Amino acid sequence: MNGPDADFIIIGSGPAGVSAAFPLIAAGRRVLMLDGGDDAGSQEESRSVRILGSNLESLRTDDGGSPKLQTPTAREILQPFRHQSGIAGDGFIPIGSLARGGLSNIWGAQISYLDAEDIADWPIDIGSLQRSYEHVAKRIGISRNADVTTDANGEPVLPLGATAAHVLHRHQAARPADGSFRLFPAVNAILSQARSGRAACDLRGDCLYGCPSGAIYNSRQDVLLLRKSPHFRLLDNMRAVSLTRSSGWTVGTADGSSFSAPRIILAAGVLGTAALLADLLPIDEQGLRLLNSPTLAIPLLSPARLLRSPTATHSLAQLGLSLRYGDGASDYVTGAIYEVGTLPAQSFINRMPLGRKAGRAAFELIGGSLLVATIYYPGNQSRSYIRRDATAKKGLTIHGGFAEGFDIRAEALKKALRREWKRLGLIQLPGASLAEPGIDAHFAGTLPMGASGPFGTSSEGELNSHPGLHIVDGSTLPDLSSKYVTMTIMANADRIAHRLAETEENSAV
Ligand SMILES: Cc1cc2nc3c(=O)[nH]c(=O)nc-3n(C[C@H](O)[C@H](O)[C@H](O)COP(=O)(O)OP(=O)(O)OC[C@H]3O[C@@H](n4cnc5c(N)ncnc54)[C@H](O)[C@@H]3O)c2cc1C
Ligand code: SF4
Repeated sequence: MNGPDADFIIIGSGPAGVSAAFPLIAAGRRVLMLDGGDDAGSQEESRSVRILGSNLESLRTDDGGSPKLQTPTAREILQPFRHQSGIAGDGFIPIGSLARGGLSNIWGAQISYLDAEDIADWPIDIGSLQRSYEHVAKRIGISRNADVTTDANGEPVLPLGATAAHVLHRHQAARPADGSFRLFPAVNAILSQARSGRAACDLRGDCLYGCPSGAIYNSRQDVLLLRKSPHFRLLDNMRAVSLTRSSGWTVGTADGSSFSAPRIILAAGVLGTAALLADLLPIDEQGLRLLNSPTLAIPLLSPARLLRSPTATHSLAQLGLSLRYGDGASDYVTGAIYEVGTLPAQSFINRMPLGRKAGRAAFELIGGSLLVATIYYPGNQSRSYIRRDATAKKGLTIHGGFAEGFDIRAEALKKALRREWKRLGLIQLPGASLAEPGIDAHFAGTLPMGASGPFGTSSEGELNSHPGLHIVDGSTLPDLSSKYVTMTIMANADRIAHRLAETEENSAV
């Protein structure tokens, strides 16, 4: 009989998968990464193809949803997951990817860090998470926007757009009395300084269509680094469809191949991992609780910036914000403010109750003074469940919804935000909307660390009911704060992989 194909098989090459791979190969473990997608949609395509699509798909009418999800790259990575994962949505948009790099091909790259209060109920200590935050931050490159050109250490920073800088100055001049509202320059995984294989941001603002210079972090970049190690192997177009246990674990793939290893690390994204585990877990009528962040988008106008042109900056988040709405540890929302003037005119025109010509004229007139705020609630304000559903083709349906009393809290929050916009000299425009659950793509909590029973996992992400199966994506986060989740997913994957590398070392001794 043949021996195992590797010490660890990692399923998925998104931010979680690559973050788990680095510590393992550094410790000399043999890692085989299987990904259901391939290198298609890489940013090496020409600018016109990135923006228009190879079949001019950008010229099709959009559906009024997030402009980010309608770009050619987004269509290319989301559609295979939609068609092949076997997950349907009922009041929920099941966002997942089948592509090298996963959703990091299209993410907004905004970074948040959890603190000790955020992880009070987790079976891990904040020190170990912070160490992993540092490992990941060093690897992926993180910068902060500012209205200066260098920071205190003389390092270049990315310039804030003029409208965002204006709003930040107003905030700093008149802070709210109770300090519950915070506004600050956004922290993004964008390079302000070139590093090997990646250029610094050129401020041309094409970010919506994917970053051609590699300034925005995408875990494909890490795959290239990992491939330099003799301990690492990646196989593309290997969609895992089954997991079976004998002496170790065997992964069966859609093309009929199989690969075995003593331990499997699942990093297929929360929805991809749920689909893969569906036959191993007793998912009944009640289903698996899935945490996601209810999301609100609010258009804003800065009258002081009317008729001014936007200044050169990237088109990702300019400012970050947070606002408390209750006394509980997680009772706060976070969010980001984007400058609309740096986004393509079309995404504004498509969303205005005006004709094309009038829409374009309006954009030219007021585009530089428009902002959009995106606000995220914590996951406990969602009520979404993954259920086995006899009517769905392969059996899983996600039913989306909101926590009881959410509408009352949402109204109170909107009122509190309106006060803050006023203080910042901003006018809230009509059209604020609560997105359909799922569109946030911030998912967590299906297989929480520290929980007992068949759906629980250990602090190393190992399924209680299936030793040797470790999960390192958002599935194992016990709760979902309103903060951006990916940095924590990556840090947790790094932390788990360090622990696994140490454990294996000790057992070898
Ligand atoms: C439009 C958008 C904007 C976002 N902006 C932000 C942001 O600003 N900040 C933030 O923190 N987060 C953001 N996110 C969320 C972020 O992208 C995800 O949290 C992150 O990508 C999750 O990483 P992951 O590795 O767990 O999963 P994914 O990125 O989903 O990667 C999963 C990987 O698994 C592979 N895979 C799936 N199923 C299988 C299978 N059966 N077999 C083999 N391989 C499989 C896929 O090909 C992929 O490589 C955004 C998401 C979207 C969609
Ligand atoms: S402006 Fe956007 S797309 Fe251009 S280099 Fe900077 S981050 Fe990349």
